[in-house]
Amino acid sequence: MEIVLIIVFLLLGLVVGSFLNVCIDRLPAKQSIISPPSHCPACDKRLSVKDLIPVFSYILLKGRCRYCKSAIPKRVLLVEAVAGIGFVLLLCFYGVGPELAVTLFYFCLFLVIFVIDLEHHLILNKVVYPCAVTALIISIFLPQLEISPSLAIAGHFFDLGWASGIVSALLGGIVGFVIFFIISLLTRGGMGEGDVKMVGLIGLIVGYPLIFV
Ligand SMILES: [Zn+2]
Repeated sequence: MEIVLIIVFLLLGLVVGSFLNVCIDRLPAKQSIISPPSHCPACDKRLSVKDLIPVFSYILLKGRCRYCKSAIPKRVLLVEAVAGIGFVLLLCFYGVGPELAVTLFYFCLFLVIFVIDLEHHLILNKVVYPCAVTALIISIFLPQLEISPSLAIAGHFFDLGWASGIVSALLGGIVGFVIFFIISLLTRGGMGEGDVKMVGLIGLIVGYPLIFV
């Protein structure tokens, strides 16, 4: 793997991580992730470029706002670092290609879901629903490699063609959703509806029968 490519992906991951922090801060607060530009939540001062360099700004500012000295959550640094490292690891694992692009998207998605759930005990519909639609669209284009054994058998009788990916995704989504819906009923709210929807989303992403894993 070329070192230049690794550095590009590391920097890309850090910048994307910085944007994921904006999503994590603003989505639960029902704010736009586009405007206004980044500002300190404590003193409202608009942050300049030198305050927004991923990882480095946090270290140089010793984790405090340049203007009002209020603490910046450690999570900001962690999400940026994890995104940067994650981008490099996934690049090394998949190599450049459509599979890498899809995996990076899902990596970012679940990083956002994980941190928001950790901080607010919420899995937001406005994250899960659009991504469920996206997962279905992606499944149409996925190579037929992931076809499950049962679908492969069906493929001998019916030519599923381009639909095999989406059939696998829909089956995975339904199976995941139903199993966890039953668990949530049995535990009487021990498992939230956000979790049930998230497992449905995972089913749409990995398809059937991988959803059982
Ligand atoms: Zn401040």
